[in-house]
Amino acid sequence: MKIIKNSFKGIKVAAEILKGNGTVAFPTETVYGLGANAFSNAAVTKVYKIKRRPISNPLIIHVSSYDMAKEYGVFNDLAEKLARNYWPGPLTIIIKKKKSDVVESATAGLETIALRCPSNIIAQKLIMELDRPIAAPSANISGKLTCTSPKDVSAKLKNSIDALLDGGNADLGLESTVVDCSIGRPCILRPGNISLDEINSFLGYEIAFNLGITKQVKSPGQLLKHYSPDTELYLNQTKPIEGDIFLSFGPHPKEIDGLTLSKSKNLAEAAKNLFSFLHILDRLSKDKGGIPIKVAPIPSYGLGAAINDRLLRAAEK
Ligand code: AMP
Ligand code: MG
Repeated sequence: MKIIKNSFKGIKVAAEILKGNGTVAFPTETVYGLGANAFSNAAVTKVYKIKRRPISNPLIIHVSSYDMAKEYGVFNDLAEKLARNYWPGPLTIIIKKKKSDVVESATAGLETIALRCPSNIIAQKLIMELDRPIAAPSANISGKLTCTSPKDVSAKLKNSIDALLDGGNADLGLESTVVDCSIGRPCILRPGNISLDEINSFLGYEIAFNLGITKQVKSPGQLLKHYSPDTELYLNQTKPIEGDIFLSFGPHPKEIDGLTLSKSKNLAEAAKNLFSFLHILDRLSKDKGGIPIKVAPIPSYGLGAAINDRLLRAAEK
């Protein structure tokens, strides 16, 4: 894997690799993406293989503007309203797919397409330089911990991807909120940085969660077990004892190994730290012979809903 520094030239190099049907991990404001030219079946196929992702689980198609997005999806009133308000930003919008050069494998043969316009400037420039949409799931092995730093991407994928475009740590740390606007009653398929309350108050009416908490794959990407470290996670733990590994929220208890997601109980800070701290504690657990990670309760309001969604799936056996 080639490591590319973020620079004018670096973005050109990364775009060249994508043009040649290679795979490039790149930063977005949410998490690192594993990018492929969305017009290339060969490149998209590599992404599924690298991630060991079922080919029935479609990828998010990243664009650099709303105008670009309109070439690939049919924006109804709701989708347009959301795109105009939240893009560029951490919102993925699912709409009816338009006939285009985006390969069928990228959308898993569905009649819908998931589109996102990231606000991260490196991601934006990369898409513009490629002059095509980038199909990108998160840069991690399917079902395993998400990567939010170049270091974690490198540790997990260095032997299987062509390049890593280093853009430092992701600002937000959780995957985008996914809103399905392709159906009569729109719903949130994945909570993220933009909360349900925020979307409801923007729209002036209520849409619902459809998180599909299930062990059966009813619809792609809704498996209960996901985002998992190698070790076990025990949630809602309030009394860690010496010898435990503890992921706390608030001041970290003395004499206990681990980290706090946020000393001041700030949910945005906790979201940003969540995956990178789980990577660290997963390694610590291995050093200690595979003991579980205990996790403190996290409030469920606002961003806490997205954090708890990830933790619940990560802890599923
Ligand atoms: P990730 O692979 O972590 O980036 O997650 C992408 C998410 O978007 C997964 O949950 C996918 O299942 C979901 N997704 C992408 N395209 C579609 C689509 N057309 N319909 C429903 N979900 C989608
Ligand atoms: Mg993912």
